Amino acid sequence: MTRFLRMLGEDVISVSGSDEHGTPIEVEARKKNIDPRRLTDEAHSYIVKLLKRWRIELDNYSRTESEVHKQFVREFMLRLESKGYIFTQKMVLPYCERDRIFLPDRFVEGRCPRCGYPNARGDQCENCGSLLDPLDLISPRCAICGSKPILKETMHWFFDLKKLENPIRKWLEENKGLWDNVRNYSLNWIKEGLKPRSITRDNEWGIEAPFKGAERKTIYVWFEALLGYLSASKEVLEKRGRLFEEFWYDKNTKTIYFIGKDNIPFHAVILPAMLIASDNRHPLPTVISSTEYLLYEGEKFSKSRRIGLWADEALYILEDPDYWRFSLVRIRPEERDTNFSWKEFMRIVNSELNDDIGNFIYRILSFIDRYFESRIPEPGEFDDIDREVINSVKASYNGYIDKMLETRIKQASEYILEIARTGNQYINRRAPWDEIKRDHRRAGTTMYIAINIVAILTLTLYPITPGVAQKIWAMIGFEEPIERTRYNRDNIFVVNSGRSIGKLEAPFKKLSQDFLARISIIVEDARKKAQEDRPPHLRF
Ligand SMILES: [Zn+2]
Ligand SMILES: [Zn+2]
Repeated sequence: MTRFLRMLGEDVISVSGSDEHGTPIEVEARKKNIDPRRLTDEAHSYIVKLLKRWRIELDNYSRTESEVHKQFVREFMLRLESKGYIFTQKMVLPYCERDRIFLPDRFVEGRCPRCGYPNARGDQCENCGSLLDPLDLISPRCAICGSKPILKETMHWFFDLKKLENPIRKWLEENKGLWDNVRNYSLNWIKEGLKPRSITRDNEWGIEAPFKGAERKTIYVWFEALLGYLSASKEVLEKRGRLFEEFWYDKNTKTIYFIGKDNIPFHAVILPAMLIASDNRHPLPTVISSTEYLLYEGEKFSKSRRIGLWADEALYILEDPDYWRFSLVRIRPEERDTNFSWKEFMRIVNSELNDDIGNFIYRILSFIDRYFESRIPEPGEFDDIDREVINSVKASYNGYIDKMLETRIKQASEYILEIARTGNQYINRRAPWDEIKRDHRRAGTTMYIAINIVAILTLTLYPITPGVAQKIWAMIGFEEPIERTRYNRDNIFVVNSGRSIGKLEAPFKKLSQDFLARISIIVEDARKKAQEDRPPHLRF
């Protein structure tokens, strides 16, 4: 999306980061007998490496352990307090005397009061689906050590979400850019009103709460991690000699968030509420691109049950991330849960990338190489067939831009295939191999139009398959990198005649016929290799 927006000439920054605090990480580190910081250091640097290998170029992939972030969070929280959105309240919570920690809901286990399932978690019963409170569980136990928790009184600081109910509802109803799934889910979520939420925790691993009297408490991870979008922007902008205020104090700034549907309430309710409460000068989310779930061969991804494929493993199966990037866009769950299957993966790679897109591109370039001395020919007069294809490609190109602007990337990719198929049909109709025998100039016109369709196709592929797109761009004969070009909805002629094409090579390779038959061995092998790459405490 960053690459796409830059091709439109937008001033974009893209940020993300590792969410590193909270009890689950603290407990995991304790189990492995290491400092939580060591665990998050390892994870963070491994993720940075993977992002690069996947060609995911963020301006800043930061972390919640960054000093800039911690400072930003503390100041932000104090501002919420000074505006009257923070209050304190005593609570009675489960506490494990052996582990000496207050147990978060899902760290208390016990018998479900509804269905009797013996291993229900304090937040929800896996068996009957009931939402629970840890105090409801029959014979509760600590999920870490198994001993019986006691109830202990503690003081917490609360964010008064109730005061923000009306502005949030109004914003959800009126913001046209929000996807329907986000709006409906959030409106439903706040139907029964917004309740204050505690934003402090009694654990050690986190950002110290800045409130007076809250020493030894930390800010609840969700509240601080969301502010990472702002602090990571601040970090990169200041590094580049620009100002945080330029983007984050301008209500005309557009912000786009990419999340999975389980994160909707935090991005569509809690984050906007915090932004309004802090001083109401920040832009609220313009688009929240919230995908449904992706399944693996019909099942939920599960680390413990070894179902699924991880980002590092995938690159041992196909090394060039562009194949994965394109395939994952093609099955991106924009409307409903979608299934990844190896059969479908093979179809996308072999039939869509190779046959429809790759062969068309290679066919045109080879023809120019062979019959026009590797130079883009001069066009003659256009006839009706030419004008028809030009209009059709222009319509697909515009369709692509519109869908990308809505972050409907899968739908946008349909237009990429449409351009390739239109190009193929045009060539079959014109039959330049016959034209070249009777009318060299007519064949030149056909090739001039066709190479421009190749160029538009390459420009639309670029955000999804940046590596291959750059290679094709060089084959067309461009010396400057593809990202120097800008999208222009009105003009599909970006290649001038006279330009020499570069050295040719088929843009994509097919997966071999026995790929599906061998897939379990291939996956097994990739898992072993990826495991060896992982830092010691991240192996599973
Ligand atoms: Zn139950
Ligand atoms: Zn315990």
